[in-house]
Amino acid sequence: MPSRAQLSIVERVLATDVTAVIVLDEDGALVYANNMAYRMLGIYLPDGSTTEDRADTADDNDTAELTQQLPDEIGSFRWIASTGTPLRDVRLTLKQSSAGQRVFSINASPLPRNAHETPCVALSIHDFTEQYKYYEEALHKSQERLQLATEAAGIGIWERDLTNDTFHWDERIPTIYGIKYADLPSNYEQWRKIVLAEDLPALERSFRQARINHTRFETDFRIHAGSGEIRHIRGFGQYIYDNSGNAIKLVGVNEDITERKQVEHELAQSKERLEEAQRIARLGHWIASTDKGLLEVDLWWSPVIYEIFGRNPESFKPDFKSYLRAVHPEDRGEVIELLRRLRADHDHRSEHRIIRTDGVTKWVRAIARTEDQSPVNARRILGTIQDITEQRELQQELEYRASHDPLTDLFNRAKLQQQLRAAQAAYERHGTPFALVIADVDHFKAVNDRWGHSVGDAVLWEIGRRMSSQLRETDFLGRWGGEEFLILANHTDESGAAQLADRIRESICGSEIQGIGTITTSFGVAATEPGTYLEVLENRADKALYAAKERGRNTVMKYSQL
Ligand code: GH3
Ligand code: MG
Ligand code: MG
Repeated sequence: MPSRAQLSIVERVLATDVTAVIVLDEDGALVYANNMAYRMLGIYLPDGSTTEDRADTADDNDTAELTQQLPDEIGSFRWIASTGTPLRDVRLTLKQSSAGQRVFSINASPLPRNAHETPCVALSIHDFTEQYKYYEEALHKSQERLQLATEAAGIGIWERDLTNDTFHWDERIPTIYGIKYADLPSNYEQWRKIVLAEDLPALERSFRQARINHTRFETDFRIHAGSGEIRHIRGFGQYIYDNSGNAIKLVGVNEDITERKQVEHELAQSKERLEEAQRIARLGHWIASTDKGLLEVDLWWSPVIYEIFGRNPESFKPDFKSYLRAVHPEDRGEVIELLRRLRADHDHRSEHRIIRTDGVTKWVRAIARTEDQSPVNARRILGTIQDITEQRELQQELEYRASHDPLTDLFNRAKLQQQLRAAQAAYERHGTPFALVIADVDHFKAVNDRWGHSVGDAVLWEIGRRMSSQLRETDFLGRWGGEEFLILANHTDESGAAQLADRIRESICGSEIQGIGTITTSFGVAATEPGTYLEVLENRADKALYAAKERGRNTVMKYSQL
């Protein structure tokens, strides 16, 4: 029997209202039980009442009879009393007629005792049934969720028993492998056969590593699916070991990633194509995402823009500030204006020059648009930059050719006529005077006849040089046709133009043309007068020229002198 002192320890330490406490002696006989213990274990007292009707502490007379009603499983804790080994959290499931199946957690400790005291064990018992149900339900729910998740993601689970080399496949694997359940590989050799041979080495390497290092493997491989198609599978899993550390099982998860691979592949391809197309067009695109001030924004450039700027994508981080610094000083205002307007409305373009760090100047066409319809909320600015240097050069050359005479490099007749019309318009509108000088090389036929046509050409070129050397800022010289030249002298009257003509005359005949001798030229001059049209003026200059020829050539004649 436990002594009073022993029992008081039990009560002090263990007896609470939520914990059932019982004390057994070394024969398994019940020597103490609190009220909760009677209730929890559904023990009826001999007189038919429940323990609740009775006093808390067990009565010496009752205990002998109570012992019979204790479940055997509880009685089996008695050995602890003699061995002195405490037990913690032992799960015990008891079927009870009144409450059905209940789950208990039991802590058992031998009671400290003096030599004369009987060895006893105290059991504290928690009814764990509700929590257990809760956990079970939660587990069930999460299993359902896992199932949903794996189904949605197209994941199948398999197990390989290494002790007898067999596979167990779950019911989703056939869909993933495109192989009927009955035809799924049943051992490792068969499984190896459905994997593409070139993927096997890497796959088996990752198995080996996982097995040796006790880690998870994760690997992509391809299989021959049932229909003959090839599928991309992602697999991960791990080995399970026995107590002596031998791998006994391999558990894994497979996922069909064929579509993902295909999309990835297509994405990579179209990205490649875009880059190639951009490279051909020398066009790159950029993206700025922000709500910050434009100059603080980070820019993303596609590779071609780095090429245009001669920058290394590894080391150069683009932003609008450094962009502006690269813009040619003459064009910077335009680009700042474009950036400023970017925030106010939508589509913007500008053609400007940038000067690269290696000194090369490039012409670029920049187009930018805000992504959002409402510019205030614009989150992203997208744009393209195209290298139009060649285009510009070609355009400039075309413009040059369209306005210049190829033999003399002076303006051609079309350009002269355009300038004459502009001068005439300025005269009519503002009264700005101008004068015409028409020059004709004297006896040029003879040059051709004597030296040949190409020498004649060279002489024309030289005459052009000598003429332009005498021009003033406002004078406009061109080849009027054959060996005739025309000078448009703006803001100039007849005598001023005549003086210019005489200087030119002097420069042509003043020194010999190498290998040819002296060449002379005749000039006719006419200036604007109220009511004169362009045709009239041209005609007057022609008449004056004719008069100069008449007077013996190498002469300047003014129309007013006729
Ligand atoms: P002048 O004017 O003094 O009366 O005598 P000219 O010999 O210069 O006579 P004219 O102005 O009538 O003749 C022009 C000549 O210039 C005829 C043509 O062979 C030559 N000529 C015209 N265009 C070219 C050209 O592009 N190259 C060369 N080499 N000769 C040209
Ligand atoms: Mg002529
Ligand atoms: Mg002539």
